Amino acid sequence: MAQADYQIRWLKAEVEQLRRKNMTLTRSLHSAQARARAAEARLSLHERSGLPTRPELERHLTSLLQGNASGTMGLALLRLDEHFAILQRALRPSMTEWVLYEMGNRIRGSVGAGAAVYHLRDEEFALVFETVDSEGALEILLSGVIQQVRAPVTFPGYQLAVGCNVGVALCRREKCDKTNLLRKADLALNDARQSPAAIRFFASEMRSAAVERVQLQADILSSFQHHAENGHGHQFSMRYQPIIRVDPDPMSGRVLSVGVEALVRWRQADGSVVGPDRFIPVAEETGLILPIGNWVLYRVARDIEAWREDGVHLESVNVNLSARQLLDPQLVDTLGIIADRFPETRNRIVLELTETSIMERPEEAVERMREIVQAGYEIAIDDFGTGYSSLNYLRSFPTTCFKIDRSFVSNMTQRQQDRAIIRTICSLASDLGYRVIAEGVETEAELMMLQAEGCDSFQGYLFGRPMPADEVPGMIADLDNRAWREAITLN
Ligand code: C2E
Ligand code: CA
Ligand code: CA
Repeated sequence: MAQADYQIRWLKAEVEQLRRKNMTLTRSLHSAQARARAAEARLSLHERSGLPTRPELERHLTSLLQGNASGTMGLALLRLDEHFAILQRALRPSMTEWVLYEMGNRIRGSVGAGAAVYHLRDEEFALVFETVDSEGALEILLSGVIQQVRAPVTFPGYQLAVGCNVGVALCRREKCDKTNLLRKADLALNDARQSPAAIRFFASEMRSAAVERVQLQADILSSFQHHAENGHGHQFSMRYQPIIRVDPDPMSGRVLSVGVEALVRWRQADGSVVGPDRFIPVAEETGLILPIGNWVLYRVARDIEAWREDGVHLESVNVNLSARQLLDPQLVDTLGIIADRFPETRNRIVLELTETSIMERPEEAVERMREIVQAGYEIAIDDFGTGYSSLNYLRSFPTTCFKIDRSFVSNMTQRQQDRAIIRTICSLASDLGYRVIAEGVETEAELMMLQAEGCDSFQGYLFGRPMPADEVPGMIADLDNRAWREAITLN
């Protein structure tokens, strides 16, 4: 009995031990499984936003397109705009991480259960809509998302705003191809980034536009080579548009001085003229803007000399510089060489820079701007009011002039807000002792209103369209006979 008792106890103990072992094993198995799941989840979740990443997006699309379901589905790519890149350079990494986290949350929050949201790269998100009832409804939903993204992000002492663009591709699930869908959404996104509309739906023309862009790049290159080899191939040429400064005394109506803005033109071999709005961005991408920009400076300097020989005195000649030119380490040397070779240009050429191009790399840009001023050139801020620059940065720009963007001027007679913006820019400029030039003045009504707001320099079709260098002396001689003179005196 004692023997049997002992055996039972021994067996029980054995069973208990096994049970314990088993429990530990099960526990460690469970925890290993949990760790593996967490690691896998970490791999497919974006570390900043906690949203699933590209491989997950691809998997989702594959599974959607493999099923038997029919109907229309949609893919939207959302990219934060250049303000985010500016923040990335200007803020501490922890702050940018917070901005991304916040953006992810807002996007997810504003689509709710309507879409799956993915975080592809720092500034790019994707939204998958499994069923799309209509393009219009989707557009309304996405407008809501954009509004959420645009709302300011607040830190103690800061308020930041980031914009975004969205490209959308729709497809019938039964005949859709994943790669094709991604490519279409990407083309639509590119289109949105270049157009004033924040959302674009894919259209087949976009594919041809992309092909055209590559063709344009090749054409600019061959044109410039031809131009450089033949010197006077007339592929690139300059036009000059008057900038008129009038006496701020409303009774006088006197023209105090005349300047011009130099605007480049490109005539292709077939005779068609391509506007700078189209070819400058492409020339920027390829780097060709540097030799083209140097040619522009040289050509302008020669024209200034020629005008002087004709006895024509221009107060200033404004030349546009793009971001890439501003950041070119050779720029200041080139400006020095031009000023030495054409002494007339010293203190006459004003370089126009946009806020956006300065804010691409603000510290470097401000440093370069100081060197430019030391080399004897002035700086004007172009398209003022459309870019993103804090007043703090503005204070550090060694500039002397703001150019009010055309969009404010053309709306000011109908929109109170645009008029208020113009008033603010004029009063800021006056406090800082800067000059203000209003761009795109087309009517006498605009001219009178601008004068009333305290603006004294004007540029626009009302005063003259961009013209070849040899028409500039005639334009100046003819100023007295122009109809707009009456608007100035009447005011
Ligand atoms: P921007 O510097 O804002 O130049 C003013 C643009 O507005 C010019 O267009 C001009 O022709 C146009 N404009 C002037 N007055 C009026 C008006 O009353 N009404 C309307 N509707 N438009 C007016 P353009 O010549 O096509 O130049 C476009 C842009 O290309 C310029 O904008 C400038 O950013 C860039 N650009 C032009 N030339 C050069 C250059 O030599 N180098 C660089 N980097 N960029 C240039
Ligand atoms: Ca300009
Ligand atoms: Ca402008």
